[in-house]
Amino acid sequence: GSVMTGISTRSPEVHGYHAHVYYDQATFPIAEKLRETLAANFPVQVGRLNDAPIGPHPVSQFAAIFETDAFQTVIPWLMLNREGLDILIHPLTDDMVDDHTVYALWLGAPIRLKLDTMQRRGYSATLLPAA
Ligand code: ZN
Repeated sequence: GSVMTGISTRSPEVHGYHAHVYYDQATFPIAEKLRETLAANFPVQVGRLNDAPIGPHPVSQFAAIFETDAFQTVIPWLMLNREGLDILIHPLTDDMVDDHTVYALWLGAPIRLKLDTMQRRGYSATLLPAA
């Protein structure tokens, strides 16, 4: 008999990506420098350093927003230069719950996100790559 894997060549539409870089008091200087280097050298929009929890993120982090075609330059660089910081990379589909769970990619250790802060829908324009 055949094995049903559920694997399909069809995928949800991806409108871009976020990389969320987590830090704490001790690693703040590393995060700050990583953010500056990202902003200066890569086609990303970086958000501010959020010391307080926001949305599904339970600890301090900043976000980088980028287009799908920047993935191959941004992600390998983060992979090699994260200096021990934990990073969540997630796609921007029309279902933010899936984006932060089944579609999530982690560099370093995964962090337990507050999933009940999200709904099964897409993102406001400010969270998508600028047109
Ligand atoms: Zn995000």
